[in-house]
Amino acid sequence: MGAVLHTINPRLFPEQVIWIANHAEDRFLFVDLTFLPLVDAVRSQLTSVEKVIVLADKAAMPAGRDDLVCYEDLLAPEAGSFAWPALDERTAASMCYTSGTTGHPKGVLYTHRSTVLHALGTLHSGALDIGRDSVILPVVPMFHVNAWGTPYSAAMSGAKLVLPGAGMDGKNLHELIDGEQATLLLGVPTVWLGLLNYLDSISAKMDSVQHVVVGGSAAPLAMIRAFDEKHDAFLIHAWGMTEMSPLGTVNGPTRELLALPKEERYKRQLKQGRPVYGVELKIIDDDGKELPRDGKAYGRLLVRGPWITSGYYRNDDRSAFVDGWFDTGDVATLDEINTMQIVDRRKDVIKSGGEWISSIDLENIAVGHPAVKEACVIGVPHPKWDERPLLLIVLKEGASATKEDVLAYVGQHIAKFWTPDDVIFVADLPHTATGKLHKVPLREQYANHLMG
Ligand code: AMP
Repeated sequence: MGAVLHTINPRLFPEQVIWIANHAEDRFLFVDLTFLPLVDAVRSQLTSVEKVIVLADKAAMPAGRDDLVCYEDLLAPEAGSFAWPALDERTAASMCYTSGTTGHPKGVLYTHRSTVLHALGTLHSGALDIGRDSVILPVVPMFHVNAWGTPYSAAMSGAKLVLPGAGMDGKNLHELIDGEQATLLLGVPTVWLGLLNYLDSISAKMDSVQHVVVGGSAAPLAMIRAFDEKHDAFLIHAWGMTEMSPLGTVNGPTRELLALPKEERYKRQLKQGRPVYGVELKIIDDDGKELPRDGKAYGRLLVRGPWITSGYYRNDDRSAFVDGWFDTGDVATLDEINTMQIVDRRKDVIKSGGEWISSIDLENIAVGHPAVKEACVIGVPHPKWDERPLLLIVLKEGASATKEDVLAYVGQHIAKFWTPDDVIFVADLPHTATGKLHKVPLREQYANHLMG
């Protein structure tokens, strides 16, 4: 209809929600009843929002709230038809904000063209293999790259799309998968860990599922094996980004892969896969020189293609855009046939259950505590959330503070899921030659801190 759909993560800290909505100049806010308390808390600071529309019928609307519009009331007087405008294909269609390493989140704008091309690119068997008989269950929020584009790919292919709502625990998911006979699941590893544990606990097997697309964080070996051996489902390891609409690479069930002995195949599935048609990849060193595709050399991963953003919305930071390529902030290897494997991350961020936590933002907040001289946040492996933040603190001379003091202070400024899992007081912190925090040895030292 010519509007731009902007999906927001309601679990962000209210100040971030306000900043994002104002930066995007959102005009009409559509919300579930569940999120009314959040809306009430931020409404007076939303500078561009004209109306708040509650996605509920009249009976469910809260009493005495003239400031809200009921969704069904909004629809009722309208005709059943609509004169669709003829838009240029490069008109904006939707947007998502992604949390950067520092500063404010960055807006990525998708056009009609990029959305359609991306959806087309995801359908075929060399990508996510979505067709008219697919029953797709994305356990991915709409604010995370529009549920990885599945609303578009499902509509385009005639597939059935099943949305999980708030019940993302193992039991609910199992009922939904079984009840709807889902064939294709999509989500981050944390979600599937919950499902697999639940299925183990009741000794149940999923029968309908053929493929499980895992992305957002690296798929662990045990998960690849569990889906295959216990549920006859192939884990399609995929990689992408908000800036990429999101799909970049997939590691699907090729004939070559299926012919391998199982353990060897599982190991290969740890790689994030080959670029889908339309996406180009290359790796470069710090001088910008392209590195060989030999499966060993690793460097900065750059991408190019028709559904990859060319800039951030109302943001003049061009540092990630190099000669028509986008620098992903990931560090990867590429082999002779272009199979990509992520080996590290240059961006200083933590990914917990599929959502970003900015270590730099956390550090800046922690040093605001009067007893704190220096703060360092590192992401360390966690059995459920993949990665969680640890806060290392050097206290000012003569000052004292407890873990609880520091967490209470930090907690005033952050979303709950950003809360560090532990606070460790240290005498000093390692630095690089240029004076930056040197996090590599710390990540090694604390690698098992939360693994139980
Ligand atoms: P987002 O924009 O929130 O989707 O995050 C994109 C980033 O998540 C990538 O740049 C990677 O750092 C990380 N990521 C996504 N998929 C994978 C994967 N399969 N394995 C490892 N990291 C991943």
